[in-house]
Amino acid sequence: MCRSSMHEPIVDWPRLARLSGAGRGIFVLAPHPDDECIGTGALIAHARMRGVRVEVALLTDGAASHPRSRQHGPARLAAIRLAEMRAALRCLGQIRPLLTLDLPDSASGTVADAQWQGTRRRLRAAIVQSGAGLVVTTWRREPHRDHRSAYRLLRQAMYGLPATLAECLVWTPITGTRRDRPSAREGRLVHLTVGAARPRKVAALRAHRSQFGAVVGDDPDGFCIDPATFRAMTGPHESYVLER
Ligand SMILES: [Zn+2]
Repeated sequence: MCRSSMHEPIVDWPRLARLSGAGRGIFVLAPHPDDECIGTGALIAHARMRGVRVEVALLTDGAASHPRSRQHGPARLAAIRLAEMRAALRCLGQIRPLLTLDLPDSASGTVADAQWQGTRRRLRAAIVQSGAGLVVTTWRREPHRDHRSAYRLLRQAMYGLPATLAECLVWTPITGTRRDRPSAREGRLVHLTVGAARPRKVAALRAHRSQFGAVVGDDPDGFCIDPATFRAMTGPHESYVLER
């Protein structure tokens, strides 16, 4: 997804596994249905092609993508998007059940403290149980606020755990500004080669049909991935910031 330089190495799966502990298992926290594909689709597919265990958690229900639809109210849209995410994960070779955390879409960072702390505890318990060596969520300065709160929640949930935290870039390279980009002191930016995982990643992202204008017909202003954005999301690399 991003251009590389001498300081931003391109890594294949074996190298990333060595750098991050991903060979021991991966835990992914996706803010919305589709982030698991855009941000980490190749990572999950590479891991599953090698039999590495992957656990995926979903922070919000994604019900805010088409707020004006009358035919697809929040509950119906949430059910559709959850089914799409399960289909997408099957495309990536993921077989474990999906953990749903059910925070409100576009407002995950504004819930009452009791709900936030309860979600943090559930997340921490799931990470501990997974035994994952690499735990991934979205980059801390992503343009979408749920992506930023996913990072904040995961950072708190992982406190003291013996695993590597990685932040994936989803919208930052597409709609972010220069100031949103990671700096060298914030972590080590690496670009994972998508390579053989690309067909699975493309099929998985396509499984999110509602995000391509194929399901909701009565909200023309609703979210829709256009062809140029789709190409940017399915490029030759996925970008991760590994904690120092
Ligand atoms: Zn998202």
